[in-house]
Amino acid sequence: MSDLSSSPIDSSAWSDTELAVTIKAYLKMLHAELHGVGYNKAAVNRELRAGPLAGRTKGSIEFRMQNISAALYEMKMPYIAGYLPARNIGSAVKEKIIALLSAQGVESLEAYVPTPHANVLSERVSDLRTRHLGTVPRGSQSPEIVTITTSTYVRDPAVKAWVLQSANGQCEGCGDPAPFTGMDGLPYLEVHHVMPLSSHGSDKTTNAVALCPNCHRRCHYSKDRDEFKLALYQRVARLIVEVPELMDNTILI
Ligand SMILES: [Zn+2]
Ligand SMILES: [Zn+2]
Repeated sequence: MSDLSSSPIDSSAWSDTELAVTIKAYLKMLHAELHGVGYNKAAVNRELRAGPLAGRTKGSIEFRMQNISAALYEMKMPYIAGYLPARNIGSAVKEKIIALLSAQGVESLEAYVPTPHANVLSERVSDLRTRHLGTVPRGSQSPEIVTITTSTYVRDPAVKAWVLQSANGQCEGCGDPAPFTGMDGLPYLEVHHVMPLSSHGSDKTTNAVALCPNCHRRCHYSKDRDEFKLALYQRVARLIVEVPELMDNTILI
């Protein structure tokens, strides 16, 4: 049996049980790493050889750990920084590792996966905010760029300008003055469609309000956004209640 960490020589001989215990040990270390808890790779390797992986070499276990990193990398999941993905791995073994990772609940790591979709990103951030994030995340020096197709609404500039002009520098939600002067030298407020365009709301002055950024975000993201919306209808006389047709998917319009 080879002791070279780069050698996949004994790969076919690994049983499902051996792979499963290796994956279990790997995930335990990965969770520790993601949560900022210290762990000792050499000690884990020793324990495996003293127990369920008796007969395996240190190097072959290390190589398996790197195979697991490769499978996680392929699944776009986080992996242990100290085990660089070793991708010279048979596809059968890789499939087996992926299946075993799923069986051991690797999906719980999905919240750590970078995404180009704003709504998925905010879901993942909310999820991660409830966990203990011990370490400073590695992040990315040059984030990947993807092209995504989106649909958007054609908006009437006169409606927006009229709503801003009639607000006269005061938020129609809270009554406070615009928080700062915009690049155009005018009071900065944002125009929000009370019945969202995505719910078939109209792009008319009777469905649009000028809000400070706080009130605008409140309309989209706050727990009390429905109550706040009702308050807007009461506060701004020109608004006309429209009938929704689709769910507001919180796209910021
Ligand atoms: Zn406001
Ligand atoms: Zn809005």
